[in-house]
Amino acid sequence: MKISTLSIGDELIYGEVADTNSARIAASLYDLGLKVRQHLLVGDDLGAIVDALEILATGSDVLVVTGGLGPTGDDLTAQAAAAATGQELLLNEEALAAMQAFVGREGGEFMAATRRQALLPAGCTLIPNPTGTASGFILTLNGCYLLFLPGVPSEMIRMLDGTVLPFIRERFVKKVVIGTKVFTTFGIAEAEMDRVMGDLPDSNAGLALAFRVSFPTIDLKLRGEGDTAAGVAELLAGAAATVRQRLGEFIVAEAGATLDDEVARLFRETGVTISLAESCTGGLIAKRLTDCAGSSAYFLEGAVVYSNGAKHRLLGVPEKMILQHGAVSAEVAEAMAQGERLAAGSDIALAVTGVAGPGASEEKPAGMVFIALADGEGCQVREYGFSGDREQVRTLTAVTALDWLRRYLLTR
Ligand code: ATP
Ligand code: MG
Repeated sequence: MKISTLSIGDELIYGEVADTNSARIAASLYDLGLKVRQHLLVGDDLGAIVDALEILATGSDVLVVTGGLGPTGDDLTAQAAAAATGQELLLNEEALAAMQAFVGREGGEFMAATRRQALLPAGCTLIPNPTGTASGFILTLNGCYLLFLPGVPSEMIRMLDGTVLPFIRERFVKKVVIGTKVFTTFGIAEAEMDRVMGDLPDSNAGLALAFRVSFPTIDLKLRGEGDTAAGVAELLAGAAATVRQRLGEFIVAEAGATLDDEVARLFRETGVTISLAESCTGGLIAKRLTDCAGSSAYFLEGAVVYSNGAKHRLLGVPEKMILQHGAVSAEVAEAMAQGERLAAGSDIALAVTGVAGPGASEEKPAGMVFIALADGEGCQVREYGFSGDREQVRTLTAVTALDWLRRYLLTR
C-alpha cells in the first residue's frame, strides 16, 4: 500500500503558513498502521499542480491532496484535477445543493463566487464538508485514488476523520487491532532514551516505538498491533511495564496527561499546600499551577518578586544578603522560599531566581537559575545551568520546578 500527500498553496511555499495539514494526515495514517511514502508541496500554479498529481498518482495507491478548493482565482485544484484526469469541469448539482444548504444554515448570502466551488471534475464522488462551503471529492488516476480536501485545517480535519480515513481503512487496512500508549518524559535526552529502549521495539510481535519532542518534554509512543484487542492490550501492557522500569523517574505523565495535570493530581491526593516566590519566571509557575481547575484547594498564593526591594519588603530577604551574594544566588533563593512559606503559612514554598538572559555577567551567565523548596523540615536549593533563549530558559525553569514538585509529592 503506497500512500502520498500533496499540499497546495503559495503561503505554504513562501513559508508564511506551516504545513500542519500534511503532519495531521501523516499522524492519523500512522495510527492506522500506514506510513506516508512521500509528500510534496506546490504553490498555486496550475502546471505545477497537474505535474504533481500525475507524478504522485503514478507511484501511489492513494493520494491525499489539501488546499486550493476555495472560491478565489488562486484556487486551482479542481481545474488541475480535471486536467490531470482528462475530465471536464462541470457544475456539480449535489455540491451546489450542499453549499446552498450550508450558506442557508449559517444565515449568509450565497455569493456568485461561491458557485465557482461547485465546478468539479465530471464523475467525481463528493466528500461532504459539514463546516464549510468547499466540498471535497474523489477521483481515480492510473489506479490511484485521489482524495481532495480543502486547506482550512479545521474543515480538513473533520473531513479526514469523517470520510477519508474510513475510506482508506475499509480498502487498505488489514483487519488488525491497533492500540497506542503514550508516556511523557522530562530530563532525559532523546538519544539516551533511544539507547535505553534499544531492544524494545519488535516488528515481529507488532510492537513499534516512536519519540516526539515537544520542548522541553519528550513523548514516547508505543504502538501495538495484533489480531485481537486482548492480545494488543497484553502486548502494550508488557511493553509499558518495561518502559516504566527503564525510564522510571523520568516519566512525568502517562496516557496523554501532562506534567501539570500530574502535579495537580498529586497535590489533591496528598493535601499539601503550596505558595510561590518567583523572580525570573515572572509568575509562569503560578500560571501553570492555576491552569488546573480545583487548584485553589492547594495553591495559596504566589509573589512575583522581581526587584531586590520586593524580595526584601515582601519576603524579608536581608538587604545585606542580596548585596553580598547577588539576587541570583543559592542564599537568596533559600531566603525567598523560607520567607514566602512563613508569609503564606503554606506546607511548602518554592522559590526561583535566575538569569533568563540575554546578556549576563561573567560569573552569572544567562541560564543560571536557583530553585529552592522549603518545607517544615528545612530548605533545599539546587543550581541549574540552562541553555536556550529567554523564553526557553523561563520554560525550562518552570518545568524543572514543576518536576521537582512532582518528585517531592511522590515521596509524601
Ligand atoms: P477556502 O475555501 O478557505 O479558500 P481552500 O481549500 O482554498 O479553502 P486554501 O485557500 O488553500 O484552502 O487555504 C485556506 C486556509 O487554510 C488558509 O488560511 C491557509 O493558510 C490554510 N491552509 C491551507 N493549506 C494548509 C496546510 N497544508 N496546512 C495548514 N494550513 C493550511
Ligand atoms: Mg482558498
